Amino acid sequence: MSETHPEANDGRAGARSRALFERAQRSIPGGVNSPVRAFSSVGGAPPFIRSAHGARLVTEDGATLIDYVGTWGPALLGHAHPEVVEAVCKAARDGLSFGACTAGEVEFAEQICALVPSLRGGMVRLVNSGTEATMSALRVARGYTGRARIIKVDGGYHGHADMLLVAAGSGAATLGIPGSAGVPAGAVQDTLLVPFNNLEAVAACFAEHPDGPEGIAAIIIEPVAGNMGCVPPQDGYLEGLRALCDAHGAVLIFDEVMTGFRVARGGAQERFGVTPDMTCLGKIVGGGMPVGAYGGKREIMSSVAPLGPVYQAGTLSGNPLAVAAGRKTLELITREDPYPALEQATTTLVRGLAERALRHGVALSSHQVGSMFTGFFRAEPVRDYADAKTCDLQAFARYHRAMLSAGVYLAPSQFEAAFVSIAHDPATIERTLDAADGAFAAVRHPAE
Ligand SMILES: *Cc1c(COP(=O)(O)O)cnc(C)c1O
Repeated sequence: MSETHPEANDGRAGARSRALFERAQRSIPGGVNSPVRAFSSVGGAPPFIRSAHGARLVTEDGATLIDYVGTWGPALLGHAHPEVVEAVCKAARDGLSFGACTAGEVEFAEQICALVPSLRGGMVRLVNSGTEATMSALRVARGYTGRARIIKVDGGYHGHADMLLVAAGSGAATLGIPGSAGVPAGAVQDTLLVPFNNLEAVAACFAEHPDGPEGIAAIIIEPVAGNMGCVPPQDGYLEGLRALCDAHGAVLIFDEVMTGFRVARGGAQERFGVTPDMTCLGKIVGGGMPVGAYGGKREIMSSVAPLGPVYQAGTLSGNPLAVAAGRKTLELITREDPYPALEQATTTLVRGLAERALRHGVALSSHQVGSMFTGFFRAEPVRDYADAKTCDLQAFARYHRAMLSAGVYLAPSQFEAAFVSIAHDPATIERTLDAADGAFAAVRHPAE
């Protein structure tokens, strides 16, 4: 097939995407505004996206692709949901930003607090990204407890704040940068690392760092790991973290930027029945606009300025367009309860993928929680990041390329979760499985 006239669903970068990528690399580092968008680990240039509706993207080369990236999580309702778009347009006509109080932000905060178990009766502060949410939550936890140290999980990603760029998964994992240059040793000296799904390691941290100013202020964790690929918590793990934090007066922070409104309406905390002290939100909460949020118990959130001594601010926080998109999204998931159907569609897909992998003799371990999933290219289930790193990354890269040429857009990394939206109807799932049949064959018999 000629590369200037790809098939209508061949998603590989065609002439126009490649020309744009050439240009992009001159004025944008690596040609991308976030490193996860680079195709370095799967090869080739990224296709440029012109538009997106429902479950599909249209590239600058004119290809129509089934999308499982979902703008990295937010697109639970599919792209450009008409009611969300309408809400944003309406808000825009009334002014893009005021930097002042609005009725919308009050209603939005009330909606969030009603839906997320740990925020019921508590308070929430709006910010502009997941990164801002986690760095602010940790500052609050440290201010509230008067302690310095924090615990994070190896392969857990919480945005790009200095203190959290230690053994972060996702883009940092894909690029083989365990931390980052430019992060001074002092910024991470109070960050303790533990493997996911390992309570003994957390208990050992508490034993080593007794309660007090040098003690542990908080554990920050993705309750379902998503940035090493989708790895569920083992039975009792989240409960165990809750008990350890209670025993030592540390703040349990669930980073639900990915899992919030995704694995259940009330997030992983609702799904697994474990309530953290603080919760970080992002992605879906903004309905596709840049929004983050952090909140928790009233007593803890009372430390935030202007109520308390912990400073945190934002010129565009509570932006009326972003709030309009978020409010409409939360209204829709409340009104329509999309979760049973989402989970069923995802289960059909994940089972279908597993069957096809097996048929082609490709080792694949499938993990699913709600409408997020990852097929790890290894035989055994993945329990933590060390496991995930043993996957056959060459096989993943071949699979990714074959799926893209067959019109299916996946994150260009083994260490990412895939997302299903309400717009992924049975026909779309079926087309994906047909594409996967060929892709697994290509993994076994590389022709390229
Ligand atoms: C995406 C993500 C973040 C960072 O959010 P940004 O909006 O990209 O800053 C933080 N934590 C988790 C769990 C995420 O998945």
